[in-house]
This record gives sequence, C-alpha cells and structure tokens, in this order.
Amino acid sequence: MLETYNIPAMLRFANQVGGEFWLKAFGIFPYRIGKMPEIKMNARLTSTGGRAFMEAGFIDLSCYLMKRNMKHYEDVIIPHELCHIIAFRIWGDTGHGKAWKYAMQEMGLNPDRLHTMQTKHMAKSRR
Ligand SMILES: [Zn+2]
Repeated sequence: MLETYNIPAMLRFANQVGGEFWLKAFGIFPYRIGKMPEIKMNARLTSTGGRAFMEAGFIDLSCYLMKRNMKHYEDVIIPHELCHIIAFRIWGDTGHGKAWKYAMQEMGLNPDRLHTMQTKHMAKSRR
C-alpha cells in the first residue's frame, strides 16, 4: 500500500498523550513505574492498533490505524498499551490479567481488552 505518514507529527501527538497519561500515573502509582516508555510508530502494523514490549520498555503503534482513529488512540489505545507497561513493571503482569485491569481502572479506564475500530485490533498481539 502506498501511503505516506507524517511520522514526526504522529510521534508528537502520541508523546503528548502518553506524557500526560504517564504524569497522571505517577500520581496514582507513585512507585516503580519508571520513566515513560519510548513510543515508536510502525508503518507495517495494520491489523493491530499497538503493542507493548514490556521488557524492552517501549510501545509501538500502527501508523495506518492511528491516522484514521486519532481520537481512539488518545482515549483508548495509548492508555491501554501504557497500562501494559505499568502492570508489568509493578506486578509482572504480561497480559490482560488482574494487574492490567486494575491499572486500567485506577486510571479511570474501562478494562475491556477489545475495542471497536475498523479492524481486528488486539485479537492477538498483546504480549
Ligand atoms: Zn492489551
């Protein structure tokens, strides 16, 4: 697919959203969440909204889907992936377990792992 992305603008957006989320998380989990994970944009990811690489400490996001669902990335995808990092760092949870759900709830989010986007986001992939 020939599609161009303004990666710097997408990264600015994602880091803005992620940075605010992380700052809020510091107030809620004032221990061991560490520094804000790096956010990467992935131009090849098209059927998954995002992935969290917990041990490496970064998340990557689909350029294709983010371009079409900016609001959903702000409200759902970026917080969802960052909660994976938080749940892993504090409790060692690597999936959508109790710790991840707890982190989501504490952050004021619905801990449903399935979202609605015009894709089968998340069917697999949450590592
Ligand atoms: Zn997930």
